[in-house]
Amino acid sequence: MDYSENEVLEFIEENDVKFIRLAFCDIFGTQRNISIMPNELKKALKEGVCFNASSVKGFMNAEDSDLYLHPDVKTLSILPWRPQHGRVLRFFCDIKYPDGRHFEGDGRHIIKKVIKKGKDMGYSFKVGSECEFYLFQQDENGNPTNIPQDYAGYCDIAPIDKGENIRREICLILDEMGIELENSHHEQGPGQNEISFYYVGPLSAADNIINFKSVVKTSASTSGLFASFMPKPFINENGSGLYFNFIICDNKINLFEEPKMVDKEIVHKFIAGIMNRIKEITLFLNPITNSYSRFGSYNAPKYITWSHKNLSQLIKLTIRNDEYKNIKLRSPDPSCNPYLALALLIGAGLEGIEKNLSLCEPCNTNLSKSHIGELKDIETLPKNMYESINLSKNNEFIKSILSEKTITNYIDSKEQEWRKYDARTDKEKVERELYFSNI
Ligand code: GLN
Ligand code: MG
Ligand code: MG
Repeated sequence: MDYSENEVLEFIEENDVKFIRLAFCDIFGTQRNISIMPNELKKALKEGVCFNASSVKGFMNAEDSDLYLHPDVKTLSILPWRPQHGRVLRFFCDIKYPDGRHFEGDGRHIIKKVIKKGKDMGYSFKVGSECEFYLFQQDENGNPTNIPQDYAGYCDIAPIDKGENIRREICLILDEMGIELENSHHEQGPGQNEISFYYVGPLSAADNIINFKSVVKTSASTSGLFASFMPKPFINENGSGLYFNFIICDNKINLFEEPKMVDKEIVHKFIAGIMNRIKEITLFLNPITNSYSRFGSYNAPKYITWSHKNLSQLIKLTIRNDEYKNIKLRSPDPSCNPYLALALLIGAGLEGIEKNLSLCEPCNTNLSKSHIGELKDIETLPKNMYESINLSKNNEFIKSILSEKTITNYIDSKEQEWRKYDARTDKEKVERELYFSNI
């Protein structure tokens, strides 16, 4: 909803709001916030709130450290899990320089530019996300263990499924925050769960994922559990993916209409565009060393293929009654920065439309069957983070979406992580350390 300044101030008054959180993300997708008191809000809406960007990983250097948070009033939401007296209100913020220019490392700004490009070409996008995560028990000091919450499997029910109450709580909180969900269930791995979201615009889809992660982590921790978004916590169990279901709509779509796909040829070009760039942008969709342990087993994709059927392909193009319903991309994982991931993916799809790329034939082999081995002549996603880093370096397409500085800061940090990982023999331990240093 678009609120005027007065409406926001009234809302604060009427809802006993005592703290206002100004939320933003670093370039790796970790949420951060500054809390201001309600009497500061008027000023914040007008001038923004200064923060020390040199202390935010990947943002700025110390000589040049002032950036400003500008609350986006459309994202106003009470945090239902905080006390109900003296409530906490949260805004996602845009990030600007002191002179009012947008900061190039701000993921919300990056994705808005791509949305605008799509609009200028005549398209708008809807994104429905599906996010998987594990729930682990904590030890007596409240630290996460490797013991899952339960030993249930796909769509199991209680009492073997111990996640039902926590999924219920997460869904109710998200509902209260005005986020529409599609479904929730126990996933295949022990302690693994999934929640999927209804379609919204790409910016809200990214905001919702960031919000979702904090709701899941907070709900887990109040129940004495630890929520992990690590892509592959157990080598012999299902990994956790973050699937994006895209709908490409005509730009003139009415906000309240059921989103409907544009012509089939456009959809094909969009998919061809994503397949064309997927290797180069994987570093931004699968950003930690552990991400690469997920590919190619337990139904997670490995080959750069598409199909209409659910056969562990990279992309599934859902068709019903001869109509295209959505494009499901299955490689991203929940450790990514969803703003950058969606900006690069939509940018790649738009490039496919612009350049009239043609889509290859579908691959209707069941890729989840372990006996198929290596499929000849079919390209694969990068095998590890080292390969992924090299594919994204000096890449003209990535430069067309992200600023040079953001790319350099991002890649430098990933190279450091890779060196740390590569130098150690205790891979499982170092992957865990790297995951924790990224959340
Ligand atoms: N969890 C899987 C992944 O890592 C795949 C299984 C599924 O949910 N379809 O992508
Ligand atoms: Mg699903
Ligand atoms: Mg799933």
